[in-house]
This record gives sequence, C-alpha cells and structure tokens, in this order.
Amino acid sequence: MSVRTLIRHLHFMWAAFILRVQAILDAAVKTAGPLYILLALSLLSCIIYLYYTTVLPAVHDLHSVEGLAHLFLSAWLIYNVFFNYFWCIQTDPGSPPMTVDVGDDLSKFETASGIPQIRWCKRCRRSKPPMTHHCHICKRCILKMDHHCPWMHNCIGYNNYRYFLVFLLYLWAGCIYTVCMASIPLFGTSAHFLFPQEPTQANGVLFTFVLSLALFGSLSCLLGWHIYLVLTAQTTIDFYSNRQRRRDARRSGQVWVNEFDMGKIQNLRNVFETNSSGIWWLRILLPFRASPKGDGVRFPSRYGSSDAAFDANHLHHHDLPSSSLANGSAPDSRDAITLERVLADSEDNWRSDNMV
Ligand SMILES: [Zn+2]
Ligand SMILES: [Zn+2]
Repeated sequence: MSVRTLIRHLHFMWAAFILRVQAILDAAVKTAGPLYILLALSLLSCIIYLYYTTVLPAVHDLHSVEGLAHLFLSAWLIYNVFFNYFWCIQTDPGSPPMTVDVGDDLSKFETASGIPQIRWCKRCRRSKPPMTHHCHICKRCILKMDHHCPWMHNCIGYNNYRYFLVFLLYLWAGCIYTVCMASIPLFGTSAHFLFPQEPTQANGVLFTFVLSLALFGSLSCLLGWHIYLVLTAQTTIDFYSNRQRRRDARRSGQVWVNEFDMGKIQNLRNVFETNSSGIWWLRILLPFRASPKGDGVRFPSRYGSSDAAFDANHLHHHDLPSSSLANGSAPDSRDAITLERVLADSEDNWRSDNMV
C-alpha cells in the first residue's frame, strides 16, 4: 500500500468517524429539544415570578398609578415574549417543493468551469432555492435556513424567522427593563424602598438583577448579530459563505455583491412584510400571526427576481464559481459511497451546523 493510498484511507476513516460522532450529537440535540424548552420556560418564569414578588413591590405600591402602569408594561412585554416564542416553535420553517422545473437549457447557468451550478440536496434529492440549506438535525431542507435552534426545538427558517427576531427583541427589552427596575432599590437612595428591613426581598431583587443582566448581555450580542444579518439580507449560514466569496473576489481584484441586499430599509421590510395587508413595522410592535410575504423560493434581487432552482449567487458575473461539492454538485447516486461523497457530506454538515 502506497503512502498516498494510506493517507486517503486514513482521511476516509477520519471523515467517517466525524460523521458518526456528529450523527450521535444530532440525535442528542433532537432528543433533548423538549428539555431545552422546559429550561427556557423555567428561566423565564423564575425572572417573572421574582419581578412581581420582589422587584416591583420594592419600587412602587401596586395600587398606585405608577404601579399599575408598570404592571401593564410588564404584562405587555411578557405577552409578546411568549406569543412569539410559542409561534416560533409551532411554525414550520418551510421546505422547498418536491419538484422544481429546472428547464432544459442549462448552458445559461454554466460557470467558467463549464459545469452548471445547480444547488442540489443529495439527501432530499431535490433542488435547493437560494438560501435553502439542509438541516442535519431535522433531516430535511429548510427554506432560508438561518440555524437550528435547540431552544426552539425547531429550525429557524423562512416562515418563523420573524417570530424568532421579535421574540429576541421583546426578551431583550424585558431584560433591560428588569435590570433598570431592580437597580432602583439596589442603588437608589430614596428612603421609601423596603431595604434592608426585608432581607429576603433584597436577596430576591439582587438575584433578579444578576440573572437579568446576564441574560441581557447574551441577548445583546445575539440580537445585534441578527439585526446586522437582517440589514444586510443574509442568514447566519450564508454569512460565512458570503464572507468567503467576498474574500475570494477581493483576492482576484473583483468586488462581490450580495444580490439580495436591497438596502437596509427594504431588507427590513422583506423580513417583516406578510402576505396580509397592514403596516409592516407594526409587525414588530404588535403580536401578529401571518405568513411572510412571498414563497421562500424566489426572493427580490437587485438584479431582478432570483431563480427558483438555482443559486444566482453562483451565476452573477461578480461571483466566483462555488468550490463546495455539497452545494455545487449535480445529483449523484444514492448508493455510491465514495471518499468524495463522505467529505462532501462532512462539508455540508459543517456549513449548516452554525447553531445559536
Ligand atoms: Zn435536504
Ligand atoms: Zn433543523
């Protein structure tokens, strides 16, 4: 056996081992999904309980106008958090249609290498519209997939991304609100606060403050990240491939342009507009159940409508041909297990494994 063959053999074994480990981890994440939800609900319930039993009574008399105003405001935040959390879990993120007519003339999709760049999922055996990716935990292709979220026990994709984003927004607002409210008795100087006459309540306020502050810190990073993605018309998964394309283009003296980036305001509208009539920004402020505008297969593009079956990012003259076997290869035989296929599987898994 030559050294080259030995290296290939070891490479194959390593890739197979990684896939096996990842399959076990995927199964564990899927199985533990309800526990994640239970943990999230317990954490939220704990903060809410402590807020109403320790923080709010320490700041305002609940029968005063101020106390009632804070009761109403906190109830509004809580309702929005749970409304969007529930529908993010319940809403199917969406999968591409079983059959997509790819047409006869593939020459117009050829790249410099002469190979048509059809995005194709070898597991689902169907073409992948732009921004669609295969989730190896849900074991299916997800429209405009952002990531698989264990806290939702669901993929975050085309149909439920709006719920996910508004959930983050209201949870973030609720945390900063709780932190501010808990700061008043902790750091304020007014004599009417109940400290230190009731040390149990003081401990409750301090615990709520620390818990909310920690959650606020984490959520600020996560929310900031998703606001950036929304304003630049990217998903978490596509961000990494787009970054690579941008670097490749820069190295070859070209400029890569994200064709789905229609400008910040329009990008924001594209996320919050729904198939029903109404003012799009009210979808952020008010709990509202509706499917997003469009079909998740075609997206508005700065160069015209995107094609249903092909990743136009691969085709535009600003772009470089994709080097990803997982995304660029034509359908292969399901039974033919080769080193290339194992490596392609591994690459695809890594690409869609950006869990938040
Ligand atoms: Zn798939
Ligand atoms: Zn998933």
